[in-house]
Amino acid sequence: MIGDFIAWVLMYMSPKSISEIKGYFNHLTEQSRPVRLRLRRQVRPAFSLLGTHVCKPLFQGLPTRKEKPGCGRTPHHCSAPGQRHNGAMDILVAGGGLCGTLMALTLSQRQLGVTLLTGSAHPQPIPAATGYSYGGIPWWMGVGDGGRMLSGQGLACWQQLQERHGDLGLRPGKLLLYWSAADDDAAVEAAVAALAASLPEETRPERRCRSAFCGGNLQDLGLTCAGAVELPYGRIDSRHYRPAMDRVLQSQGVRRSPGAVDQLLVRHGRCMGVRLTDGDVLKSDGVVLATGAAMASLLPLPEAGRWFPYSRASVLPLQQPQPWPEVILMPLLGGRERMERQGRTGLVVDPGLAPWGGGVVFGQATSLQRRSGRPGATPSALTGSWQPSVAEAQLHRALAELAPGLATTARRQRAAVRHCPVSYSPDGRPWVGGCPGIANLWLFGGFRGGFALAPLLAPLLAEAVARNSPLAQELGVDPARLLAPQDRPPHQKEDEADRGDSAS
Ligand SMILES: Cc1cc2nc3c(=O)[nH]c(=O)nc-3n(C[C@H](O)[C@H](O)[C@H](O)COP(=O)(O)OP(=O)(O)OC[C@H]3O[C@@H](n4cnc5c(N)ncnc54)[C@H](O)[C@@H]3O)c2cc1C
Repeated sequence: MIGDFIAWVLMYMSPKSISEIKGYFNHLTEQSRPVRLRLRRQVRPAFSLLGTHVCKPLFQGLPTRKEKPGCGRTPHHCSAPGQRHNGAMDILVAGGGLCGTLMALTLSQRQLGVTLLTGSAHPQPIPAATGYSYGGIPWWMGVGDGGRMLSGQGLACWQQLQERHGDLGLRPGKLLLYWSAADDDAAVEAAVAALAASLPEETRPERRCRSAFCGGNLQDLGLTCAGAVELPYGRIDSRHYRPAMDRVLQSQGVRRSPGAVDQLLVRHGRCMGVRLTDGDVLKSDGVVLATGAAMASLLPLPEAGRWFPYSRASVLPLQQPQPWPEVILMPLLGGRERMERQGRTGLVVDPGLAPWGGGVVFGQATSLQRRSGRPGATPSALTGSWQPSVAEAQLHRALAELAPGLATTARRQRAAVRHCPVSYSPDGRPWVGGCPGIANLWLFGGFRGGFALAPLLAPLLAEAVARNSPLAQELGVDPARLLAPQDRPPHQKEDEADRGDSAS
């Protein structure tokens, strides 16, 4: 009604009378300025005391208008750091891949207020490695004590998650680690022995000879494998996982936003929240960075690119009915892991095939460039000498060598190679825990065998976040292990010096 009245008044007023009214109000504003300033000086402290000691305790926990679902903004806008959301801590999880989604889920189960920033609103969005992954679950892998602690539980973790939340894409599987006729026999035997030694005693890899690759549906592929060992496996269908997780996170009350972190807000060695690429500032009680390859570019640590590196993966998805349901085929003598561990620059192709949605994906070419450790450099700025066309050519050549039948299909389909960056850790162990020298900032990534280990470690990190306590050192996943003392942030060095002083 008031709106109608104002519209009516405006309609019947001349432009002159409107400007006269505006002038009158400006005059009033100028006149009252000194009074307003005096009032502000005297009254503000009183209001601030009232707010802190009366209003905040009274209204804490009540939902605000901004928290209504569907309002499109997270409740963190305008909130002060340390402020509780419905009495619980408010945590921002950055990264919409495997690690970010699992972290958001486990944090929400601890009754924390969780907002997941998937990063898709980034001006140059970074594709999630999770979307192109084979999703194989190397269930025998573990952490701590050379991988023997907490080992063998990855598959059971996914089964429990599915029992609780419905189908997340867990499928039965087999892993075939093959070799070709050109591979050195001694190297093959050594690799089979090393694999057997890493498995639980009751699991023996079964040998398959060349004929296993030639029968039935496989004939058309013309696979050139000379032999293989087979292992029971499981896999997460990465095409199914994302929509399934969207549903689950929504049902758990996790707020999802396409926001992309531009910068962490760190003051006096404490993370207060993030600034997004659209300029919005989100404050929170804690931030979990699960941004995969974009970890280093966001961390305000010297040499971050060296300690939190990534490689580039190239894969070729094909619309080929799955000829070999449930099987993930990978080379026994793969080169990627060695290249990443040694930090050697170059390009290797580990020809492999995996089910991917309704088709198959052929992969993977891995490119590794030397990167600058300059903090704040965006991953897209780190492309350097990265040459996707070379990776594409090598991938097509490897496909023609491994499966000439599929290479023909790829040509017919004009299949396009896709690229994504994949984070890895120089020592093969993930980064799970508090960021060295920055309180309230947690890291979750750098996995080898992430589909086995991330569901195992996410609840442990969620517990550490909720209690603000460190993860058990014996797990060997503390990110601080990676940083050389001279690369620690200045405030951490000061803390260490303080501790040293008091001890002595
Ligand atoms: C071809 C291939 C096959 C693989 N096969 C297997 C396998 O069989 N088994 C296995 O265990 N592992 C496998 N992996 C590795 C596995 O996929 C990865 O370890 C895992 O997916 C990494 O998950 P992540 O969440 O850490 O990173 P990602 O999946 O890369 O997710 C990172 C997320 O962070 C987001 N992001 C980036 N920048 C920002 C920002 N500034 N703000 C907010 N969000 C941001 C990205 O958009 C993305 O959503 C494979 C990888 C590839 C490429």
